Amino acid sequence: MTRFQSLSCLLSLALIASAQAPTPQVFGYRDFTQQAKWDETFLAVPDAALAGEHLKTLTSAPHWASSPEDYATAQYVAEKFKAAGLQTEIVPYKVLLNKPVKIVIEAFDASGSRLMSGPTPEHVDNKNGGDPFQDDPRILPAFNGSSPSGDITAEVVYANYGTLADFQQLAKLGISVKGKIVIVRYGENFRGIKTYIAQQYGAAGVLIYSDPADDGYFRGDVYPKGPWRPETAVQRGSIQFLPIYPGDPTTPGIAATPDLPASKRIPADKLQANQPSIPTNPLSYHDAAPILKALGGDESPREWQGALPFTYHLGAAGNKSDASTKNGNSAHITVHMHLEQDIALRTIWDVIGTIPGTNAAQKDDWVVAGNHRDAWVYGAVDPNSGTAAMLETVHGLGELLKQGWHPQRTIVIGSWDAEEEGLMGSTEWAEQHEKILADAVAYFNTDVGVSGPNFNAAAVPSLKQFVREVTKEVPSPKGGTVYDQWKAEQTAANANRRRPRPTNQTDTEVRIGTLGSGSDYTPFIQHLGVPSTDIGSDGPYGVYHSTFDDYAWFTKFADPTFVYEQQQARIFGLEILHMADTDVLPYDYELYGKEILNYIDAAEKRATEQKLNLDFTAALTAAKRFAAAGTAIRATQAAPPADPTALNQSLRAAEEALLNPVGLPKRSWFKHTIYAPGEFTGYAAVVIPGVSEGIEAADSPRAQSQLAPLAEALNRSAAILEAAAK
Ligand SMILES: [Zn+2]
Repeated sequence: MTRFQSLSCLLSLALIASAQAPTPQVFGYRDFTQQAKWDETFLAVPDAALAGEHLKTLTSAPHWASSPEDYATAQYVAEKFKAAGLQTEIVPYKVLLNKPVKIVIEAFDASGSRLMSGPTPEHVDNKNGGDPFQDDPRILPAFNGSSPSGDITAEVVYANYGTLADFQQLAKLGISVKGKIVIVRYGENFRGIKTYIAQQYGAAGVLIYSDPADDGYFRGDVYPKGPWRPETAVQRGSIQFLPIYPGDPTTPGIAATPDLPASKRIPADKLQANQPSIPTNPLSYHDAAPILKALGGDESPREWQGALPFTYHLGAAGNKSDASTKNGNSAHITVHMHLEQDIALRTIWDVIGTIPGTNAAQKDDWVVAGNHRDAWVYGAVDPNSGTAAMLETVHGLGELLKQGWHPQRTIVIGSWDAEEEGLMGSTEWAEQHEKILADAVAYFNTDVGVSGPNFNAAAVPSLKQFVREVTKEVPSPKGGTVYDQWKAEQTAANANRRRPRPTNQTDTEVRIGTLGSGSDYTPFIQHLGVPSTDIGSDGPYGVYHSTFDDYAWFTKFADPTFVYEQQQARIFGLEILHMADTDVLPYDYELYGKEILNYIDAAEKRATEQKLNLDFTAALTAAKRFAAAGTAIRATQAAPPADPTALNQSLRAAEEALLNPVGLPKRSWFKHTIYAPGEFTGYAAVVIPGVSEGIEAADSPRAQSQLAPLAEALNRSAAILEAAAK
């Protein structure tokens, strides 16, 4: 017996034990007895060792979107879908992608002597085992997706994390970034936002580096000794202006199918809304250190200091400083960035697997679940730990099909391509199926499936309780259920914090995050209003988007025996099974209403702080009405009519009613009135975004004008719930 087998054997014993306990009450089911049996059958199938095999195969070569190796992974996934009995197709799209041809970054001191010449190849030495994957000739030079080509030489300014507040502070200090190359560190916001703001402030180019304070030696031992970022490892990543719109830059709102006529696409010279105009490239701290060390000018604000072993300077002297006294290094250095990008329409491949539903009235109310497959390099954690788990979920669904199970609602599983470039595979597919997705009852996402043992989730409030219930049914490799471990881990983390984590959450339950962006749920929830969740299992993970996110790192640090892969396959599967067969859609509008009231409350307080005179009356009245309707509909859901079809339609329509067809100011693709990625955060969600961003910008007319569509959306949704609750 291998270690895997003995572990999964223990887990199945735990399952048998839990199956003898009384059948749990699960919200949405009249009687959970039959479902509990199917769940038990399903939970026994996902296999740790098989997940490990999927991961090994998927990560055997670098598989950047549109490459032949990427296509090979699509074929592998399609084969597994077919073997499980899913109707399977590989769906191509043609999207605009840049591929680096030549990348040169070099720095010179005032006398013209060379300080550094990069980029240095990502490499670790053979101490502590080295890395068997690092020298593959197919690894592309580290680059940022959506960066234009450019050949610029300019002085350098350090701008901390490159947040709006950081650029505002530089301006306050009297330091201009106009015509300069801005060097910023990763963290705090989505990297595309760093370029978005730098460009608005007139910068000529951007270098984004990984500071050891954020994911390197300051956090712990670096790879291969520990899981943190070694000095040559670079974080690649898209700098597309994602909060404006994601997907193929040339086709916002429509599907970039291979046969789409060129006249339907935005021409290359008119893509400014979504594509940066200034060259941007990532750097390792090995390559960033000589630049930062040589920077003159004022000392940086002390909070801007990272973990490199010298004092950080800004690169220029501000209006309040006497540079000669503030530091001994007043000389300016220059950086030369030479980026040659081959920017072209390239073919990408989603794999779509379908299990048709059998309920005549509800089979078109799809349950969609997905994970991306493309990687910057090998992508062991991001995203193929998700894909390996998803394939074991599919394995389990296949086993149920063999035993005569058929879902009520149609299940659609997506293996998305080119997520890394800007959520392209999922966005194009969602745009293509916009009509039928208006009835889709859920989208379940996973991306970074497993980087360690700590389960986490983000969800629209109506699905928070749903996710918690699912985790109560799945055993944790640490003992008890995933829910127990999740709660224990959060309690311990909170006890270690001096102040409790700020949260919008209204209940005392285990905390579930808010959906921002940075993964494939965005087109579903924020463009189409499909209730969504995102799940993963986290740990110390310093090799994100570098070559070293590979099978060797994964089996050493993330999940050596793949038991968390198995756990994730089970949770993902139960989400799908429950949503496909529940009698009444298990959306919790009572909690949703409470959370929205909290958002409006917080916005009102923030408006007062900003000294804005806004009238919240209509929005507050509408939110209270929505919350009351949420409480009423919950009672109806608990005692549903014999035929719940109409009730389910109303429950689904109530979420769609929260969309504003006009979309957000400056970014009409984003339609949801409650959730959007922040214009200046990117990953992090901004709640009631139209209103909140107006307040942050101290723009009373904008904030006031956004309160009206918010109130209308809440009234629309409340009216639907009120009618259905009668
Ligand atoms: Zn990912």
